[in-house]
Amino acid sequence: MLAAQNIHKSFGDHHVLKGASLSVQRGEVVTLIGASGSGKSTFLRCLNLLETPQQGELAIGAHRFKFGTGLRAPDDAKLAALRQNVGMVFQHFNLFPHMTVLGNLTEGPVQVKGMSKPDAEALGRDLLAKVGLADKADAYPSRLSGGQKQRVAIARALAMKPDVMLFDEPTSALDPELVGEVLAVIRSLAAEGMTMVLVTHEMSFAADVSSRVGFMNDGVMAETGTAEEIIRKPSSERLKAFLSRFH
Ligand code: ADP
Ligand code: MG
Repeated sequence: MLAAQNIHKSFGDHHVLKGASLSVQRGEVVTLIGASGSGKSTFLRCLNLLETPQQGELAIGAHRFKFGTGLRAPDDAKLAALRQNVGMVFQHFNLFPHMTVLGNLTEGPVQVKGMSKPDAEALGRDLLAKVGLADKADAYPSRLSGGQKQRVAIARALAMKPDVMLFDEPTSALDPELVGEVLAVIRSLAAEGMTMVLVTHEMSFAADVSSRVGFMNDGVMAETGTAEEIIRKPSSERLKAFLSRFH
């Protein structure tokens, strides 16, 4: 479903990603952990080409990209097609503040996919029910709690019917009592077989929900393995040192 190989990304002379690779099978939930600044967000943003790598290869579903000196950057149509296929949820929900909750969900399907408004609204209401917010369709984002906003953001991404969902620390901006409701939605997507890549510091959740875990260190995928190998029984000293901060 997704293969990123030898991804390099620099900002100016700051070499952030130094050959990071990851492959994800259909239906897998892969969690990325690692210290702040290790390149997790940059890597996720490269997966849907919010950032263009300077080097490497990326395959998502039927979309294939190769980056390197002398190669042209992908054109806008190719980028748009890829992004429709990859849903992304950020730490800060980024809802459209001037639209209702339902409006947030119908905007993409109507404007980007050309879906009829009634169809988009029916889909939007289904998705709101799925994230436990059927009664908030007409509310504006400013009236919602952080946990509710994040659940709307997840429903909005799902409305595009992506093949892959990327989550970048989706609970890091939430008050502790609101974390569980968002994790429950992610857990139910995992149970339905949604392919996901998730950056999180919620180690026990990650250990629970992940098919595989990747440990990013200094711009590379330093270790990958099962949750057992990476989180529950880490063997390397650097992984033990990183995880010890979460106990
Ligand atoms: P993480 O998500 O693991 O904390 P990031 O990918 O956000 O790491 O950041 C990795 C490094 O890349 C940091 O040093 C950060 O300052 C730098 N960086 C990220 N995005 C940009 C950008 N748009 N411009 C310049 N530097 C950036
Ligand atoms: Mg980050």
